[in-house]
Amino acid sequence: MSYRVGVDAELCISSGRCVAERPDVFRFDDDELAEVVPGAPEPADDAAVALARGCPSGAISLVDPATGAEIDVD
Ligand code: SF4
Repeated sequence: MSYRVGVDAELCISSGRCVAERPDVFRFDDDELAEVVPGAPEPADDAAVALARGCPSGAISLVDPATGAEIDVD
């Protein structure tokens, strides 16, 4: 089962990187903050880690659905 992707709107700085790279997974809300598209496909785990690492503000979180543990991507 793939990692569950989330965005912390408190940390997002609206760089747009995630939206540009995976518009099927991320979109901007009315405040120009990223959010996960409802019903979005789950990226492969390596792609999810790359997306989380690529976020300049560390706003993208990954959770292992099997354990509920947050994945450390640093
Ligand atoms: S990459 Fe990070 S800071 Fe940029 S829009 Fe996405 S969540 Fe926000």
